[in-house]
Amino acid sequence: MRKEWMTLATKPVPRYTSYPTAAQFQDDIPDTLTEQWISSIGPNEPISVYVHVPFCEQLCWYCGCHTTVPNGYTRIGRFVDMLLEEIKLWKAKLPEHGGGVHLHFGGGTPNALNADDMLRVLDALREAFCIQDHAEISVELDPRTLGPDMIHALAAGGVTRASLGVQDFNRTVQEAINRVQPFLLVEGAVEALRKAEINAINFDLLYGLPHQTTESVAKSAELAASLNPDRISAFGYAHVPWFAKHQRAIDERHLPGSEARFAQYHALGETLVACGYTQIGLDHFAKEDDELSLALSKGQLHRNFQGYTTDTCRTLIALGPSGISEFPGGFAQNAKDIRAYSEAIKAGKLALNRGVPRTRDDRLHGAVIERLMCDLSVDVAKVCMAFDEPVSHFAGAFERLRELQALGLCHVEGSKVTVFDDARILLRNVAQCFDAYSTQAMPEKRHAKAV
Ligand code: SF4
Repeated sequence: MRKEWMTLATKPVPRYTSYPTAAQFQDDIPDTLTEQWISSIGPNEPISVYVHVPFCEQLCWYCGCHTTVPNGYTRIGRFVDMLLEEIKLWKAKLPEHGGGVHLHFGGGTPNALNADDMLRVLDALREAFCIQDHAEISVELDPRTLGPDMIHALAAGGVTRASLGVQDFNRTVQEAINRVQPFLLVEGAVEALRKAEINAINFDLLYGLPHQTTESVAKSAELAASLNPDRISAFGYAHVPWFAKHQRAIDERHLPGSEARFAQYHALGETLVACGYTQIGLDHFAKEDDELSLALSKGQLHRNFQGYTTDTCRTLIALGPSGISEFPGGFAQNAKDIRAYSEAIKAGKLALNRGVPRTRDDRLHGAVIERLMCDLSVDVAKVCMAFDEPVSHFAGAFERLRELQALGLCHVEGSKVTVFDDARILLRNVAQCFDAYSTQAMPEKRHAKAV
């Protein structure tokens, strides 16, 4: 990495999976406001649905997700009861809409549910949100706890895509993060899913973990590609032990520094591209004929809380503790604490308790940031035109970009900004120039470092 990029690499930056980002969310968002956002869904408007399952069999020490270890099925069973109630509440609240076209289960570990409960939840969601026949139904899965009964239930429930947490195949790395899963186990899970005709497969890989080297991440990427998944995400491990307390179990002496992380990011990317994958945005890879690659080539790629997506819905309904719903008017998050979430549902109320309205100005800034995060390039004047705003609205952003251009991160020509391929890892630093909130005082440790 160029020496002059070091300050940028260690700067905390948002992931820009939403705008405004979660750092702008406020407590106690009024019900009247969220009701207004919900009622604004149009009668023919398709919607997306997300379900957060906040349980895992054991904690991986790198994990930054909202999850807990339940020690037995009783708590999970109670959660399923709440989830079924929450589904009914949403069904009663939603105005007429165009049906669900994307349904995604994340967590936590969705396969912490038993097979019968997974089928019950899938059936209830299908009915309540009018999930369309051709909808994409995707589930994040932990291959270590994925049994044949769950695969059968997923297939019977119409699941079309499985996303497997892989992270790294090196045993030393796996032991250092408390997630040991041999290659053969992942290979077996993929074979069983394909046999059940769940053919769209995603893998998650990580770089920046303890003991990882450029050689080891390249080897893991090669092994991952040998199983021929359609999509691979390659995220940088975000070490935020002040926020995710269990990350304190990670021995910081074995964590790679910014320069090593930069080299690992490139080694991973080069390996996957050499294996036939198209690099997408900051951290995704997809087969050339995958819908994600096609959306990229058409300038139709999008970014939401699940990362890069082909989903074009304006409305995302999120269920489960900590789930974040998205509406044109704003973002609304469910209570994170399972008890607070359950109390709201038992009282017959949605569990939305945090969020932020999205103004017209937010939508404009968000549109510029989204194009940059997806395409590595944005014609700001073109986006402004759609909002009937002069490009001078972003005079301050172009001023901030001058420094990044001088550092060789991007090229500015007229109103067009293009991020150089070798500076892709610093894409969020460029996007931050268009973030109207980034100049506001922000707690120092709110975001992970850029690299
Ligand atoms: S990484 Fe996945 S499986 Fe591991 S603790 Fe986090 S959510 Fe659970």
